Amino acid sequence: MSQLEEVEGIILSVRNHRENDRLVKIFTNRFGKRMFFVKGTRKPNSKLKAAILPFTKANYIADIRDSGLCFLRDAKEVVHYSAMQKDIFLNAYATYVLGLADAALEDAIVDSALFHKIEMTLIDIDEGYDPEIMVNIFEVQILPYFGVAPELRGCVSCGTTEGTFDYSSSYGGLLCQKHWHLDEHRYHASPRAIHFLRIFSRLNLDQLGEIKVKEETKKELRVLLDMIYEESVGIKLKSKSFIDQMYTWGDMLLQRQEKPTDFQ
Ligand SMILES: [Zn+2]
Repeated sequence: MSQLEEVEGIILSVRNHRENDRLVKIFTNRFGKRMFFVKGTRKPNSKLKAAILPFTKANYIADIRDSGLCFLRDAKEVVHYSAMQKDIFLNAYATYVLGLADAALEDAIVDSALFHKIEMTLIDIDEGYDPEIMVNIFEVQILPYFGVAPELRGCVSCGTTEGTFDYSSSYGGLLCQKHWHLDEHRYHASPRAIHFLRIFSRLNLDQLGEIKVKEETKKELRVLLDMIYEESVGIKLKSKSFIDQMYTWGDMLLQRQEKPTDFQ
């Protein structure tokens, strides 16, 4: 079975195939993730060349097949998220978002809600929202796709929604101070990080206002989310390791600025 369709899609990854062809993975809104074969894109006059650049969204005219590869014929209304095409840091954050989306869902499963989340996250990063925060929001909101749906509305044990909370992976969510004794392996996370974790889990990406988070809290949030991912999700993507390396370099540069004498 094959059919020619016009589908909205976001490029997930592009790789070369033989001399002139490419294999392009696209997250489509109506057919889920699919692998497309694109012929002759490395020739200078290929009209599809720009439409299959990383960080691109378009309406693709495609031959969708139920088994094997699909084929791209044409593209229109091509949108490039150009900030992340040019900036290596934004590129790293956006690559991680796309990698998570790819890991979260099997091929050919239709999920227009996830499609919309990916699109909004890319738009927001492209428009200058803090990429670290956008990544954190995406990490929190995609957790259920990995079978992890922590209780973040209130205490897992008594249900209270007020007060100071900590995170417990064995209880699958928050514990209020009264119930901290239930889990000695609770995360001992910063209350501010927990506060933002709760907000991020229920944010509507369509109505995102300005979010200001202090550098220190951002670090605490990163630690908290890394722990949840390590313990409960159990995947670490190459693109995430690259982001972690960027932080290490950043810290090294900071130390260098603070202690210039060390380098004389
Ligand atoms: Zn409680």
